[in-house]
Amino acid sequence: MKKRTIVAGGAGFLGSHLCEKLLLMDHEVICLDNLMTSNEVNVAHLITQKGFRFVRHDVMLPFYEKADWIFNLASPASPFYYQTKPILTTKTNILGSINLLDLAVRTGARIFQASTSEVYGSPMIHPQVESYWGNVNPVGPRSCYDEGKRCAESLFFDYLREHNVDIRIGRIFNTFGPRMLADDGRVVSNFIVRALAGKDITIYGSGKQTRSFCYVSDMVDAILAYMSVETRLPGPVNLGNPEEIMINDLANLILKFTHSDSRIVYTVPQQDDPIQRQPDITLATSAFNWKPVVNTKEGLKLTIDYFRGR
Ligand code: NAD
Ligand code: UDP
Repeated sequence: MKKRTIVAGGAGFLGSHLCEKLLLMDHEVICLDNLMTSNEVNVAHLITQKGFRFVRHDVMLPFYEKADWIFNLASPASPFYYQTKPILTTKTNILGSINLLDLAVRTGARIFQASTSEVYGSPMIHPQVESYWGNVNPVGPRSCYDEGKRCAESLFFDYLREHNVDIRIGRIFNTFGPRMLADDGRVVSNFIVRALAGKDITIYGSGKQTRSFCYVSDMVDAILAYMSVETRLPGPVNLGNPEEIMINDLANLILKFTHSDSRIVYTVPQQDDPIQRQPDITLATSAFNWKPVVNTKEGLKLTIDYFRGR
């Protein structure tokens, strides 16, 4: 029997790649999105495909449809967006989770939550393991996102405990690739777009802060491998590429690969910007045999090709 799958946030960067892969796996895909931080162009090539349906819908409102699998990716993800619309971000994460979890209760669907490495805040334990409770400022400019995602995780576990919902919580670490918005403020797209245009690259703070970047095809494989495990596996499970890099080094790599003569300029650090981030993916590897296969340099070259072609 064909699976019917709902992807909330399906027109976004990650969601559009996920919808594409689900169609290849012969799922019937319902893509829900209010296009707050994306546009239809991401899924325009899927509209004519059999089995794909786009529904313009805000997850803050309930949705009624049968489903076997549900993915909740609906949330602003770029610090620039969520800090511009903090109340909407919290509401989306909490009301969106409740509405999709209620849908899972009604339909018996398995449901995936796109959680985040931000639940660890500025981590005191490195690399981050799932058992670490994190170091999050509850009243800072990033709190709408961090606490919104933390509350969503808590709701997912409450629906497991009260309603026995088959939940999956994936803590996604920085992911990049084609279809990121050129102007959404995230570091990889920002640096590439500015380097290609010959404009200054701006580093917030010293540039010594680290991130670990996962290429989008690896992340989609991780999410699907996790969701395909037939036994209960609520998680949370870290999903990301452990290859850690300093933001200074990322900037220099991008300048090298784009053959750009843009200058690197330094500005004030962003408040509560995590100073280090690297996933421990032991659990993902042992539970569903997943590890990333695209290294950061290869992924950057593919992403630069994408932005160059635009
Ligand atoms: P994105 O902004 O490209 O995609 C998010 C999508 O959700 C967009 O299409 C947006 O329009 C939609 N959306 C937002 N609010 C909505 C609402 N109220 N109703 C319906 N749709 C709504 O971001 P992304 O990078 O593709 O991230 C997807 C998910 O993964 C997000 O939940 C994000 O928090 C999570 N995540 C992403 C990363 C990453 O590095 N890309 C890291 C950690 C977690
Ligand atoms: N960053 C930067 N310049 C930019 C965009 C981001 O120096 O133009 C830094 C940012 O301060 C953070 C890191 O790059 O330390 C990653 O930022 P991003 O917004 O991509 O994601 P985050 O991991 O902070 O959610």
